[in-house]
Amino acid sequence: MKSLVVLGAGESGVGAALLGKSKGYKVFVSDGSKIADQFRQELIDASIDFEEEGHTIENIKGADVLIKSPGIPDDVALIKELVAFGLDPISEIEFAFQYNSTKIIAITGSNGKTTTTALIHHLIEGSNIESKIGGNYGISFARLLLEEDTPDIFILEISSFQLDGIRTFRPDVSLILNITPDHLDRYEYKMELYAASKFRIALNQRQPDLLILNQDQQICNEGIHKMLTERKGDIPFIRQVSPGRAISTIDNFSQTEFVEIENPVLQSVHNLYNAQCAILAAEYAGVPLDHIRKRLESFEGMEHRMEIVRKKDGVLFINDTKATNVDATLQALRSMDDRVIWIVGGTDKGNEYDQLAPLVKTLVKGMICLGIDNENIKAAFEGIVPHIEETRDVNQAVQSAFRLAEGGGVVLLSPACASFDLFKNYIDRGNQFKAAVQAL
Ligand code: ADP
Repeated sequence: MKSLVVLGAGESGVGAALLGKSKGYKVFVSDGSKIADQFRQELIDASIDFEEEGHTIENIKGADVLIKSPGIPDDVALIKELVAFGLDPISEIEFAFQYNSTKIIAITGSNGKTTTTALIHHLIEGSNIESKIGGNYGISFARLLLEEDTPDIFILEISSFQLDGIRTFRPDVSLILNITPDHLDRYEYKMELYAASKFRIALNQRQPDLLILNQDQQICNEGIHKMLTERKGDIPFIRQVSPGRAISTIDNFSQTEFVEIENPVLQSVHNLYNAQCAILAAEYAGVPLDHIRKRLESFEGMEHRMEIVRKKDGVLFINDTKATNVDATLQALRSMDDRVIWIVGGTDKGNEYDQLAPLVKTLVKGMICLGIDNENIKAAFEGIVPHIEETRDVNQAVQSAFRLAEGGGVVLLSPACASFDLFKNYIDRGNQFKAAVQAL
């Protein structure tokens, strides 16, 4: 019996363990931290051996197949030792792919993955094509494969960490939405390494597979050039998208047609761009354009991403807590056409705020730093924003913002930072913000 060791017992690790068990592996799960109750129970119920709060390296070294969860960096001592020993850790996505025979649309990028994944699913829903959504979006790919009813297509949100661990993974359609600085601590602070990781989504793609990516980012163009040079033309179809009005392509791009998008939820530049990518992916999957047109108008947007919370006494409150990096906040500010009181800050991942300065200067009348250490962000905007306050209390942040708004404009929570200093996660931050707004 072959042995499978899974490092990390989160959604993807437990999904992989359950899939491995069902495929006849002897499975062992090892987690350096405490395993969440629900996942521990699943392992017990499936009679899968596991350890938590530490790794027994000798047990792990016996693996025929080793899966590493995306949260574990390559440069920790444990992984270095296992690699030196001769093991080749793969990701859950790679493992699951080896048992998959269903078409796949895979979505990666620095921002917009979840929105675009959900939108593609929404566009396909109700057509004669059955799709299921997963990957980083809720249910892991491995777990989807254990479900009885197999759809026509899987729509998978994929992070760069998962892509680092693929070997044969080959989606029918892949999307690289954008590549902007994020998670650079895992890539030696080098954008080219981070970009190369994103491009791995197309590593095994060949025609008639399709790669959809951003036309306006130099880094994407460089990636294509590199791919063409290294692979000598043995590459997928490539379709580059420019934010603006959605263009649909018909019959493998032999015709183009404009798709008007009137849905207010999709009107910002970044969402029009996401929509454009989603239209292409859905169409490539075989969904009729008429259906796509109708479904575009009923998309309701995503909680915690440019979510309108409430208008009170002339002040509009927007929850964009999922903007955990500078580019996401840049997109939020770009979609503002009124004066803004900006709630910002949190765990700064070594952010550089320069690119926000011109927009902030024209739009932002007041800034409230909601974080424990606000020095970097304050220094970036002192002299640019007329009024800066600091707080660690979300209620106080909302009340001050409301007062500073003086009966007009927008109060925008778009932190550009992670949330872990004051909150459990970005969802907790968004929910606390919304509760504070409702309490006004
Ligand atoms: P991800 O899953 O990649 O984190 P989300 O859809 O959850 O992406 O959105 C995260 C943040 O990025 C939100 O603040 C959202 O408004 C913003 N965003 C969405 N699409 C884009 C895009 N194409 N470019 C830049 N920012 C985007």
